[in-house]
Amino acid sequence: MTLRSGINADLRIVSPSQYPYALHHFTGSREHNTALRGRAKKLGLKMNEYGLFREEENLLCHSEEDIFAVLDLPYIPPELRENMGEIEAAAAGELPRLVETGDMRGVLHIHTQASDGADSLEALVREAKRRGYAYIGVSDHSQSAYYAGGLSPDAVRRQHEAIDSINAGEETFHIFKGIEADILPDGRLDYDDETLERFDFVIAAVHSHFQMAEEEMTVRIIKALANPFTTILAHPTGRLLLAREPYALDIHRVIDAAAANGKVIELNANPLRLDLDWRHCIYAKRKGVKIAVNPDLHNLAGFDYMEGGVTIARKGWMEREDCLNCMELEEIREYFLRLRNLKR
Ligand SMILES: [Zn+2]
Ligand SMILES: [Zn+2]
Repeated sequence: MTLRSGINADLRIVSPSQYPYALHHFTGSREHNTALRGRAKKLGLKMNEYGLFREEENLLCHSEEDIFAVLDLPYIPPELRENMGEIEAAAAGELPRLVETGDMRGVLHIHTQASDGADSLEALVREAKRRGYAYIGVSDHSQSAYYAGGLSPDAVRRQHEAIDSINAGEETFHIFKGIEADILPDGRLDYDDETLERFDFVIAAVHSHFQMAEEEMTVRIIKALANPFTTILAHPTGRLLLAREPYALDIHRVIDAAAANGKVIELNANPLRLDLDWRHCIYAKRKGVKIAVNPDLHNLAGFDYMEGGVTIARKGWMEREDCLNCMELEEIREYFLRLRNLKR
């Protein structure tokens, strides 16, 4: 059948005793199910979407937890069921404690009216507070993004005055001064150091020359990651789901460079991007690279993207400690300050 939204859906009706097996079967990927069936077999059991059997006897589990327990495993969250190491991690008692929406303390990567956003700083602050966040990071476009109202150094100065005056009236909430700085084709950021120095954090982003060869593009981004002013790499592959392929890029080398330079990589939570891809989040985690779950929002409704971003972060094995914006206000303030001091 087709839902009103246009999405195709199958409706499967099963008996109560089949339900836990059907739920498990249709929640994980085929690879996960195959691996789990293999594990069952080693234990002398047979498993399919209708039941878990010893000889001919159905073991009649009442929940997914029961099924995993029979297989001598703790419950594996549905997001991880990809046969990408979750069964081994579960067996070793090393499953991640996946991040939750409620762990998010602040929202970075926010566009205001100063560039191509729809809302004022004041409205964004009000909305962030209403949603329980302790901080936001404003990051309008930089000067070479003229098509998106990129900020001249003078406009940056004016925005910072506005932020200072709001921050002066706040005790438990804070606006961090950021920018989404274009990575130029040669890997430089598009402000001079004197301007870059004014920001609490810099999100470096590729917005032009998507057609470069893989080696050139990889070197371009690695150079931006080596820039002492870069804090976060935005939407690392530039993909737009169903619309634009990622640019040619050696993402593993980029993640390695982020690790080597102590930089954060964004998981852009815009549903058209979801970039860094969750599979590469797993790689980033292994390399000790922090991820920022960023909505890249251009209006108040964009705060809603955070929830989807967290679900993708969970698929990428992210825990609270892996996410930059799970830091408390004081913690992230010190984090940004420490990075600033390293530059001097
Ligand atoms: Zn961008
Ligand atoms: Zn942006």
